[in-house]
Amino acid sequence: MASIFTKIINREIPADIVYETEDIIAFNDINPQAKYHILVVPKKEISTINDIQKEDTDLIGKIYLAIKEITKELGIDKTGYRVITNCNEDGGQEVFHIHFHILGGEKIGPMRS
Ligand code: 5GP
Repeated sequence: MASIFTKIINREIPADIVYETEDIIAFNDINPQAKYHILVVPKKEISTINDIQKEDTDLIGKIYLAIKEITKELGIDKTGYRVITNCNEDGGQEVFHIHFHILGGEKIGPMRS
């Protein structure tokens, strides 16, 4: 079954898309946890970090280059931001289509509070 993010990629459900290339999409999180909360998602359906294959090396590299571009565009590259990928239950993963949360635009609190 297609993940909710694949439905966004295929324009089956709406999203506030801020960046898109042939193999990556980024959009605002529906439930933002910071002033800026963007999800960067490879169009390829990789469920979790555990499912990344060697052939995905280039794609994962491109994700970080996208993050660099997006944060620069937002003007938070110098002030700073946090990138998070949750994995499975203990990591708090809810959507099983790998994604990278960008949180920024304000001071992001400690990792554990
Ligand atoms: P996870 O817990 O899997 O790391 O994060 C999933 C994220 O996806 C959550 O922050 C949640 O708010 C976001 N999310 C879930 N469904 C949708 C949706 O339909 N649209 C958007 N834009 N974000 C979503």
